[in-house]
Amino acid sequence: MAHEAGDSLPCGWQHSSASPRAAQALQLREHVFWTCPGASAIRRAIQHNLPVSVQLLPRHVWLLEQPCQTVRKEVWYVVCLAALTAMLRARGLMFSTLARPGLEPAVVETRAVDLLLAALIDFAACQGSVSSFSDLGQAHPFVYARPNGSLAVSLQLRP
Ligand SMILES: [Zn+2]
Repeated sequence: MAHEAGDSLPCGWQHSSASPRAAQALQLREHVFWTCPGASAIRRAIQHNLPVSVQLLPRHVWLLEQPCQTVRKEVWYVVCLAALTAMLRARGLMFSTLARPGLEPAVVETRAVDLLLAALIDFAACQGSVSSFSDLGQAHPFVYARPNGSLAVSLQLRP
């Protein structure tokens, strides 16, 4: 099951047919990892956990560029990898909507954010109490260290 650059997506996105093939592939990646409904929901969730003065940009997520000093660099790497993985899986979810029409875009958005949260929970659970993150204060966005040194997820979701 290949979904090449020339395909349209279940969300309605289509490449510009005037673009060269290589540009179409880039447009598809930009869409899947930024503007597609699942990706948008994930980046809104990330933005919500950053200081209000910080505007999340594609380069922050795609190139793992730390958007501000509030988020420790190593934590940001984890957030980006979790986000990119969740965005790709959210794209897959959209294709499953073809077989399950009840899976509305809003449900895909909710599940996309759930995937991000699950990835962070999985990361936190795998670190153990000897984690190099064990000095992360409770106010640290995304993940923080409990008094015993183990990690917990502090991702704040919109009510
Ligand atoms: Zn899309």
